[in-house]
Amino acid sequence: MTETRRVQLQRLVPPTLNAIIAHADELTELDQAIGDGDHGINMRRGAEKILQDLPAICDKPADEALKAMGMALVMTVGGASGPLFGSLLMEMGKSLESRPLDKNVLADCFAAGIEAVKKRGRSDVDQKTILDVLVPALDVLKENEAGAELYVRLKETAAASEAKTIEMKALKGRASYLGERSIGHMDPGARTCGLAIREICNVLVAAGNE
Ligand code: ADP
Ligand code: MG
Repeated sequence: MTETRRVQLQRLVPPTLNAIIAHADELTELDQAIGDGDHGINMRRGAEKILQDLPAICDKPADEALKAMGMALVMTVGGASGPLFGSLLMEMGKSLESRPLDKNVLADCFAAGIEAVKKRGRSDVDQKTILDVLVPALDVLKENEAGAELYVRLKETAAASEAKTIEMKALKGRASYLGERSIGHMDPGARTCGLAIREICNVLVAAGNE
């Protein structure tokens, strides 16, 4: 692992996970409304495990680091979200291999990760899940924007997409048991994705990594 890559991971991962930890109570409240009320607890457990493993993870090449973070989520997070976020990161790592990470490669890996989520969750967009934030974010990544404009668009899209899940009827996961009564509440997993994407963008903009 190059020193630059290590610094990037150390700069990016802790604020992203800490943003999720800081919102754990809110995520749990969202899950209390349409699920079993453990999403914040699940995400905090997974985030804390990755933070604990981070020194060792930072020693790995980027693809192996992504796989290790995904594996940590699969191993420590109970519930549907652990294997789903785990699959996302592990598949991104597999798809990255040793390619240098630029915007196009990132879009490519993110697309592969999203396909793994769809496969594992037997799910797709418009079902009130994490995919309703991940897929619109991928669409933005594939567009022509670059630099600061890209990060602004990504943040706006993540916020609009998580808000859009409020009016959706859940068709997958525990929330689907509620049927029509799932309408009117934001999907907790979608909110987690929005928080993570916005924090990643903030860090990259602050680092001048445009
Ligand atoms: P559990 O539902 O097992 O209690 P969590 O509460 O941690 O797990 O996570 C719930 C979130 O997982 C939901 O808000 C939704 O975004 C996401 N989710 C659940 N099932 C699926 C699925 N089949 N595909 C994609 N995302 C899903
Ligand atoms: Mg839950």
